[in-house]
Amino acid sequence: MTIHKITMPTPFAVGDVNAWLLKGDALTLFDAGTNTTESEQAMLNGLKEAGCRPEDVEQVILTHHHPDHAGLVGLFGNARLLGHRYNEPWLTRDEAFFEYHDRFYEECLIEEGVPESYIHWVRKMKRPVEYIGKRPLDGVLEDGEEVPGHPGWSVVETLGHAQSHLAFFNEQGGEMIGGDLILGKISSNPLIEPPLDPGQGRPRSLLLYNDSMRRVADLPVGVIHPGHGKDVRGIRELVESRLVQQKQRALAVRDMLAEGPKTIFELTKRLFPQAYERELGLTLSETIGQTDWLVAEGLASETRKEDGVLHYEKV
Ligand SMILES: [Zn+2]
Repeated sequence: MTIHKITMPTPFAVGDVNAWLLKGDALTLFDAGTNTTESEQAMLNGLKEAGCRPEDVEQVILTHHHPDHAGLVGLFGNARLLGHRYNEPWLTRDEAFFEYHDRFYEECLIEEGVPESYIHWVRKMKRPVEYIGKRPLDGVLEDGEEVPGHPGWSVVETLGHAQSHLAFFNEQGGEMIGGDLILGKISSNPLIEPPLDPGQGRPRSLLLYNDSMRRVADLPVGVIHPGHGKDVRGIRELVESRLVQQKQRALAVRDMLAEGPKTIFELTKRLFPQAYERELGLTLSETIGQTDWLVAEGLASETRKEDGVLHYEKV
């Protein structure tokens, strides 16, 4: 067997996370769990099962920068750390980036019509940065490139869930190391994250996510080794059904807009009455996904009022 799965606990609602050890010309670990002692113990056990030690790992490659995937990068002192360039400010705790990050979310919350009393959520949206490892990338991977040390494996940029998201595809084997792009049981949250280039404006995360899923569905992928849960097969059908569900959710939001123009915050309270206060960031990004989709399809319009708040209206 050339690919070995290592499952680790996380302190997050998502539950366990997987890392994938791939033996080729190089010994490469895809993803690195969470920076906790429990996760580290599970990682060490998993490596031992695969017959290797942390110092044997020659490359650590990240599918994305989230704290359940980029945690234990410090454990692999002999390995080069590779991934999308968007990982870098998170891995190095770039102060200028985090100042811009907080301003970005403050501006988003205003646009979304979120009352002032919720602004403290900006800090929470930084996600638990301390669970992410702290070391810079040794190299950047770009879409279409061959994965170093693994002839036949290529990098597939798959933004949407994260602005750093990459998947890795071996055409000959029909295998993909998929990160959080396509999970068996749930669709990933299209998180709103500040773009590296502030001039780009807020990313349309759900639209990016849908494009990434379609792109992967068009590749001859037989099996995805995901970031959470069991291997996923029947990718094309799964993507199709996720896109149909997605459309239905957006059309339900359009029905709400039939009652009159609404802000993102108003829609979020309606869509997630139980969860919106506890999980404001996640529920807002789900709602923004619906309105972005409706606007892109020409089914809703977006108008900026004088106070900077965006109002959505049925077209
Ligand atoms: Zn994850």
